Amino acid sequence: MQKRLLFLICFILLFCGCNQKRELVIEGVIEQNKTELISIHYPKTGIEKLDKEISTYISNTRTNLEQYIKKNVYIEDIPELNIDYEYKVVGNRYSNIVLTTFFTSPLLAHPIHEIKTFVFDQKENKFLYLSDIAPINIGKIKTELLKQHQDCILLENLETTFQNPNALKFTFTDHSIRLYFSPYEIASGNCGIIKYEFPNTKFNILLEKDSIQNTSLLYQPNKKVLSPFKPTIALTFDDGPSKYTKEIVKLLNEYEANATFFILGNKVENYHDTLAYVLKSGNELGNHSYNHKKLTKLSSKELHNQIEMTNNIVKKTLNYDIRLLRPTYGATSGSLKSNIDMEIVLWNVDTQDWKLRNSKKIYEKALHDIKDGKIVLMHDIYKSTLESLKLLLPELKKRGYQIVTVSELKQIQEMRHEKK
Ligand code: ZN
Repeated sequence: MQKRLLFLICFILLFCGCNQKRELVIEGVIEQNKTELISIHYPKTGIEKLDKEISTYISNTRTNLEQYIKKNVYIEDIPELNIDYEYKVVGNRYSNIVLTTFFTSPLLAHPIHEIKTFVFDQKENKFLYLSDIAPINIGKIKTELLKQHQDCILLENLETTFQNPNALKFTFTDHSIRLYFSPYEIASGNCGIIKYEFPNTKFNILLEKDSIQNTSLLYQPNKKVLSPFKPTIALTFDDGPSKYTKEIVKLLNEYEANATFFILGNKVENYHDTLAYVLKSGNELGNHSYNHKKLTKLSSKELHNQIEMTNNIVKKTLNYDIRLLRPTYGATSGSLKSNIDMEIVLWNVDTQDWKLRNSKKIYEKALHDIKDGKIVLMHDIYKSTLESLKLLLPELKKRGYQIVTVSELKQIQEMRHEKK
């Protein structure tokens, strides 16, 4: 009887374990100093061989560019490094990763724009080359590339690149294979990154179809009663979501507090469950761009991409409409404001958690600066921020504070205005 029970428990644990989609950890580095702006995001898959290769690539890229940065003196505009990722597991077995490096510097005529791909077979624990997926017709691909990009293809580069097909950058799905070419690899820079897609007919994978995300309305505006008489602050978190976000929301719930999370679009799909929990707990989501590029430096088209890609993915996967925008690095401009039809939200208390990285110091800084009506800036990507909230939330509650979202703070201010 005991054996049976044990078996049953094991079975339940195993079954539940399989069904629970593990959220991948996305490593994020966001730094701002006198000489550079850095935003790097990449997945930590838990597969040793793959993670090692990814982090080596990231640290080499970073070191190279930082050496270049150090050689020069910058006066007004400073260099910006942005590394972003795309991640997809195909057939529950093949990890497909694309890393896009984007580097701008006032001393460069054109930004450096580079693509790197990794395709990894989890079952065999090895990287895959294009020839592992399918025999490819190089002649046909070259002809079609020429046809599609005739005004920018550099013939000599095209020939050299295809001399070693196994060095080609690619990803694949059950129905297609996609090749990637960095600017200047096969064509002049004005064509940007070139992608070429062809059907995947040879490599048949038993695919588990991606489950469609539940798009029922998750956000339930709180039925909580807002009081215009209590001292009130809006708590805001930038740069997430991350592996700490759920813990932060749990804490907020414990102290009947809510916050506005200004999120990056590139993390939405991976942290879907976390964000569903953020919304279910009565918090608010805001837009903090797609991959943390400095918005004031972008063309109008790039700017709209950064904003809309985030709004769209949040609408698609969480059925939530974002109305608020917090610009990256807090940088705004007249043209940003006139180009974007969203409410821009900055802050007036900077806890400097991004710099202090010490829970006691963050707590002291926050407590010192917090006053009624303030919007407080924090980042849900640091453990020290999470720890500081364990000190800050009970203390603010003790002092009678109402901790709300940015929109709720606005409502309270309107209520106060009407009472006057
Ligand atoms: Zn930020």
